[in-house]
Amino acid sequence: MRMGELREQVCEYGRKAIELGLVIGTSGNLSVRDGDLVAVTPSGAALDRLTPEMCPIVDLDGHLVEGDLQPSSETPMHLAVYAATGAQAVVHTHSVFGTVVATTMTELPAVHYNALMLGGTVRVAEYATYGTPELAANVRAALDGRQGALMANHGGVTVGATLEQAFELTRLLEWLCEVYVRGLSIGKPTILTEEQLAGVVDRALHPPAFPRRNP
Ligand code: 13P
Ligand code: ZN
Repeated sequence: MRMGELREQVCEYGRKAIELGLVIGTSGNLSVRDGDLVAVTPSGAALDRLTPEMCPIVDLDGHLVEGDLQPSSETPMHLAVYAATGAQAVVHTHSVFGTVVATTMTELPAVHYNALMLGGTVRVAEYATYGTPELAANVRAALDGRQGALMANHGGVTVGATLEQAFELTRLLEWLCEVYVRGLSIGKPTILTEEQLAGVVDRALHPPAFPRRNP
């Protein structure tokens, strides 16, 4: 894919993140990769006011390849994720319910079977200062075998084969956190067992056929 197209995608999903309330102002960042190049949001910019030229292009080693603005401060985290996984896109936000869970828990339990889309229980990466290699390493560890993770006292991060997929997983992560937090306000949410989750995987792999009615 041409980098111009990827930069446009970064702008499109930056706008959506603000529209859907997943990001406020300049918090959060997105990136999408093509080969050894990555289009990323610029640091400190409102994500709904980006133009393609504003989005820096970096290589996988963190060198600036194109663009006049500073790449996101979390670029080391995005690059660490690309180095460790087959992901092609990364979305990081400070969404409200994700941040609430990341501030109070060490993991988000599987309260709904859709948690399987993120790999099941979502780990909370240990706290480290934003933008540091330590935070990048903690997030990388928390993402092991998962499509999403929370970041202690900070927010959440999801990965995907496309920016659309990573973005949808961010929406899902926020929804799961909201269900859990709201559940806690009226009782003790039931957590799905390993067996129940295995049943979901089995059902998804072996859906029953719908026999056609004879005309
Ligand atoms: P940037 O504006 O540098 O991307 O930082 C926002 C952020 O979320 C830091 O964690
Ligand atoms: Zn952040």
